[in-house]
Amino acid sequence: MRSAKAVGICLCGAVKIEIAVPVFWAWHDHGRATQRAQGCAYATYVGCWKSKLRIVKGAKSIATYEDPKTCAIRSFCARCGTPLLYERAGRGKMINLPRALFDTRTGREPLYHLNFAESAEWEYRGEALKPLKGYPGVLWTGAKRKKAPDIAPF
Ligand SMILES: [Zn+2]
Repeated sequence: MRSAKAVGICLCGAVKIEIAVPVFWAWHDHGRATQRAQGCAYATYVGCWKSKLRIVKGAKSIATYEDPKTCAIRSFCARCGTPLLYERAGRGKMINLPRALFDTRTGREPLYHLNFAESAEWEYRGEALKPLKGYPGVLWTGAKRKKAPDIAPF
């Protein structure tokens, strides 16, 4: 029996990555380094065994950056900048990929939140939203934002 696969692709299409599904796990990373590297409040990753990942296309278009502080290695498409791979130090056989690379299911729901203490105070936390008059497709929370829950700044 052939195992199931999911194919991830970067924004410009230069890089195509195939992984076996179901993945090992899926998680949200609220850490400051991921916020900065991905340009977002938090990123959702799927983690899988490196041995279950294959670069189908565009290996030469993949650029890497090793964070000297954490020794984490992040890869991205050198052409369009899409984050591709995230290898955390000390987890040699595991590799993480942004869940958003995949259009199809990866076999695991993101149930885990890492580095939550570093959550951005501006992160969306499920406040009620309503349409903004005069701006089709724009929702907002209203004139006053509820105070974010107190989170330790470390
Ligand atoms: Zn690309």
